[in-house]
Amino acid sequence: MRAMILESVGQPLQCRSIARPRPGPGQVLVKVAACGVCRTDLHVVDGDLTQPRLPIIPGHEIVGRVEAIGAGVEGLTLGDRVGIPWLGHTCGRCSFCLSQQENLCDAPLFTGYQIDGGYAQYTVAEAAYCFPLPASYADAAAAPLLCAGLIGYRALRMTGDAKRLGIYGFGAAAHILAQVAQFEGRSLYAFTRPGDCRAQAFARRLGCVWTGGSDARPDTDLDAAIIFAPVGELVPLALATVRKGGTVVLGGIHMSEIPAMPYRLLWGERTIRSVANLTRDDAREFLAIAGRTPIRTQIVPYALRDANTALRDLREGQLTGAAVLVPDHTS
Ligand SMILES: [Zn+2]
Ligand SMILES: [Zn+2]
Repeated sequence: MRAMILESVGQPLQCRSIARPRPGPGQVLVKVAACGVCRTDLHVVDGDLTQPRLPIIPGHEIVGRVEAIGAGVEGLTLGDRVGIPWLGHTCGRCSFCLSQQENLCDAPLFTGYQIDGGYAQYTVAEAAYCFPLPASYADAAAAPLLCAGLIGYRALRMTGDAKRLGIYGFGAAAHILAQVAQFEGRSLYAFTRPGDCRAQAFARRLGCVWTGGSDARPDTDLDAAIIFAPVGELVPLALATVRKGGTVVLGGIHMSEIPAMPYRLLWGERTIRSVANLTRDDAREFLAIAGRTPIRTQIVPYALRDANTALRDLREGQLTGAAVLVPDHTS
């Protein structure tokens, strides 16, 4: 099969022809129909995340069909369409796994980081971490649900019942979360890079009631804010827009250093918290909501061999919506 492989950190992915993997006990082989490109993939390629298994096939927003089934797998049949997210394995024994916080497992494995992911024609995954997808979504349109959607949803839940919600960084996660949040009756305030008119227009098309640069302030205090951009300087800015008792949720897996700030920004029982990974319950809950809402995902398709271009476009902020790799199975 063809795969785009990260052989050493900081280098472009290499297009290689390698043996198709076989599913072991509890695993399935999945023929990849689409794989989303997530900012976390950039952090893996750049070495911001320091525990990759190398070489590794990135990609953790995988949509595909079950092509072969390993021993002991129940509940999946050949041809079933499944989604495969970032969380690929948990130990099931640590205190976190035993207290419904498997997202914080002490010995997890992540798809596209320690387990080969979806930048390939085929991938192998643990059946217990594969999820059925709502039928109303085409393959490529479903891909961004699996991380941008899921992590966005977990971040949204951390804001409680915030009515006025700020979002810093209006990319793939925000464009999905915006639709869910409005479905729930919340008002959204989109903060982009100062002067990024294209992102602000995108946010307005998605129904945000206010858009502006991250250095601007709406004329009302917000109940909560979510920061998706990996920029630590945004933390004090977001705290300054949030009312007493409000929460600032950090939705990214990596962030540049958070600068020192005056205590008064946090005073008044404001909270800062991060969102780490996902649980399988998050996935089931969010995918059920996605089936009902429905969410329109805006995608930008790329051929598998163009993965490096997709990563570059994401890095440079060239995308409105989500990049998705669509492998060609004819050659
Ligand atoms: Zn565990
Ligand atoms: Zn991701």
